[in-house]
Amino acid sequence: MTEKKYGGGVINTLAATLLKNNMVEGVLAYTEGLDRADLVPCFITKPEEAEKISTASYYPYSLSRLLRDYGEEGKKIGLVVRSCDARGAIELIKRNQFKREDLFLIGIECYGTVKSSRAGNQKEEFRITDQGAEVGGKKVELSEESISPNCQRCEYPVPFMADLSLKIEAQATQVFACTEKGEKLAKLAGIDFEKGAPKTAKREKALERQKETFEKLRKMSPEQRLDYWFRQFDKCIKCYGCKDACPVCYCKDCYLGPNRFMVKGGEIPPDKMFHLIRLFHIADSCLNCGQCEAACPAEIPISLLYHALYHDLSALFHYESGVHEDEIPPLGMITEEELTKGGVDLA
Ligand code: SF4
Ligand code: SF4
Ligand code: SF4
Repeated sequence: MTEKKYGGGVINTLAATLLKNNMVEGVLAYTEGLDRADLVPCFITKPEEAEKISTASYYPYSLSRLLRDYGEEGKKIGLVVRSCDARGAIELIKRNQFKREDLFLIGIECYGTVKSSRAGNQKEEFRITDQGAEVGGKKVELSEESISPNCQRCEYPVPFMADLSLKIEAQATQVFACTEKGEKLAKLAGIDFEKGAPKTAKREKALERQKETFEKLRKMSPEQRLDYWFRQFDKCIKCYGCKDACPVCYCKDCYLGPNRFMVKGGEIPPDKMFHLIRLFHIADSCLNCGQCEAACPAEIPISLLYHALYHDLSALFHYESGVHEDEIPPLGMITEEELTKGGVDLA
C-alpha cells in the first residue's frame, strides 16, 4: 500500500511533473534519510524518486547554499524551498550566479525550524504551521524556545517570490501560482491553484520578536556593544563554518582565506577583521536564515549580529533582501566617490 503523503503529496506531484516534462534536469530537495527527522539533501533526476521529498520542519541547511555546488550556467534546476531559501536564490541571481529562467522555485510556507533532536516524535511528518506544530496532522505542543532564534524573528513565512507558493497542511494544500512558469506547472500537474502570489503581510509576531531582541542590543552603549561582540568573536576558532553555510557568501576567491588581506594563517581567534569584513560584505543582504549560527561550533549568535545590522540598513535604504529580483543590494550601488568620503578609503 502506498503511504498517504502529508498535504496530499502535492509537492511530490509537482516535482515529478517538472522531471517528466523535462522542464528541469533535476530537483534539489530534502528527502527522508534514516527516519522522518533525518533529512538528506538530494538532487532528484527521476520522476519516480520525487516520492521521497519531505517537507518536514527540521533544521537542515539552506538549499540555495547547495545550489552553488549543483548549479551551473544554463542548467535548469527545480528547488523545493522555504522562503529564506527562495530569497537566497534571488540574491544569487542578482549576483549573476544564475539566471531566473533557469530556476524553478517551488516554495513552501514556513513558520520555523527546529533541531530534529528537539522535535520529539520522529515517526510521522512534523511541521510547524502558523497555528502551531503538527505531527502527522495532529496538533502538538512546542515551546517557542525550541524554534530556532532566527526563525522566531522571520517576517517572511510565505515564499511569494517563488514560482509556486504552497501552504501545506495535513489535510489539504493550497497552491498559488506566483509566475507564469508556476501556472504552467500547476496546470500540467493537474493541481488546483489560485492565480497570483498569495496576499501576505509581514508576520506581526516576528516583528515584535525583532523589536524585543534588537532593543536589548541597542540599550547597550556603543562601547558595551563593541565589547560584547568582541568577546563573542574571541570564541571563534576560524572554522569557516559561518562563511561556508551562508547562501549569500558566494565569492570563490575569498578575502578571509589564510594570509589574504587581514586574516593571518594559523592564528585563533582570528583578527576581528575576519568578522568585520564578512559583516561588511553581507549585512545589506542578510536573509536571517540562521545558517551561520547553526554552523558555528562556538555558539556565537552571528545571525543576530547580521540580522540586526541588516534591519537598520534595510530601513535606511528601503531594501528587502531576496524579495525583488531587480533591486540591487545597496552596498553594491555605492560609488567610488562615496567610498572615499571624508578621506576614509574603503574602496
Ligand atoms: S528563516 Fe526560518 S521561519 Fe523563515 S523561512 Fe527560513 S526556516 Fe522558515
Ligand atoms: S549572514 Fe547568516 S543569517 Fe545572514 S544570510 Fe548569511 S548565513 Fe544567513
Ligand atoms: S562558524 Fe563560528 S567558530 Fe567558525 S569561523 Fe564562524 S564564527 Fe568562527
